[in-house]
Amino acid sequence: MVYEVPAQGGEVVVERFEDAVDLCLAVVTLRLEPLGKPREQPRAVRAPSGHRGESAVGPDVPPEHRIVDRGALLVVASLHAMTIGAMERPEVPLRERLPDRVTIVEVGPRDGLQAEKVTVPTGEKVEFIARLVAAGHTVIEATSFVSPDAVPQLADAEELLRLLPPGTGVRYPVLVPNERGLERALAAGVREIAVFVSASESYSRKNLRRSRAEALAMAAPVVRRAKDTGLRVRGYLSMVVADPWDGPTPVGTAVSTGRALLDHGCDELSLGDTIGIGTPADVQRLIGAYLAAGVPADALAVHFHDTYGQGLANVLAALELGITTVDASAAGIGGSAFAKGAAGNLATEDLVWMLDGLSIETGVDVRKVAAAGTWMCERLGREPAGRVTRALSAVLER
Ligand code: MG
Repeated sequence: MVYEVPAQGGEVVVERFEDAVDLCLAVVTLRLEPLGKPREQPRAVRAPSGHRGESAVGPDVPPEHRIVDRGALLVVASLHAMTIGAMERPEVPLRERLPDRVTIVEVGPRDGLQAEKVTVPTGEKVEFIARLVAAGHTVIEATSFVSPDAVPQLADAEELLRLLPPGTGVRYPVLVPNERGLERALAAGVREIAVFVSASESYSRKNLRRSRAEALAMAAPVVRRAKDTGLRVRGYLSMVVADPWDGPTPVGTAVSTGRALLDHGCDELSLGDTIGIGTPADVQRLIGAYLAAGVPADALAVHFHDTYGQGLANVLAALELGITTVDASAAGIGGSAFAKGAAGNLATEDLVWMLDGLSIETGVDVRKVAAAGTWMCERLGREPAGRVTRALSAVLER
């Protein structure tokens, strides 16, 4: 069989099942062809959706860094879907249950850097944020107004905010622990803050040095005053699945604590599996309970850690229930304070790679955000945690 494959997208119509299988094999063979002689980057077959997946298969790329163009994989995937249709096997595609657009809240500069041993100079933080903006991010948690004694890595909050790239449609929320922090944030001219509470008792006492109820009570006037001043307020709820000391967090407790933050006036609630131990079943159980309690999906965000490798699966489970805001950190910067050597924040580039593949719009360029994370990891003296960054390491711009 001979098929014309459009160089710039379009559809390939295959009439017979056997031909579809042959074409799949041909595409896979083309993409998996090992090196040997340099040749033109194979672009004859592309995904019909104009997908951004790029190929690391140019003649300059060493074999160990070569990857398969995901555009080709999408062609294979769509052919696969077609062959299923030809076999009249009923199926509800995953894509139909997912949103068309996801807002990524990039937390690398705050949640990420505060957990790193190295304190990054202010100028380099500004450059990191500028690179994240250039990658397409529109929401970047910039810094925190916690006590410099508690988090010395972010002691330069005021100076950093003065140096931020002038905003054109980019939001820069900052973390605020108490009324003193809110004063500093307001004086620095911030337009958006985040407060934080733990759904579990032990983490609250160890991290915030007060009970869960006391932490909620402390957050209430901060949220109220911020709303009265016209700020947008995000609430973070930690340990929504389990706590390292208390064990599993009861769903009812996670929901009632989060509801209290929303009732105080938070515009959005970010549900954090801080130890990354949850699986998609935990995620859907929790979000389902929120929805059943009358909280709309667009008031919720998810904040997953990849400690047990469940980050992307958990995002997918959340998207399926209508969540459209997802937190992530470029290169997975942040680490985990609870599992030595384990992964921390879900890497933004891994998230974008998955969402790109599902044709879910984020506005974020996967290569640029991977490059931004790699650039910061070089300053931190650590390896990027994102799997996509590792896969693309040979072809990323510095
Ligand atoms: Mg985190």
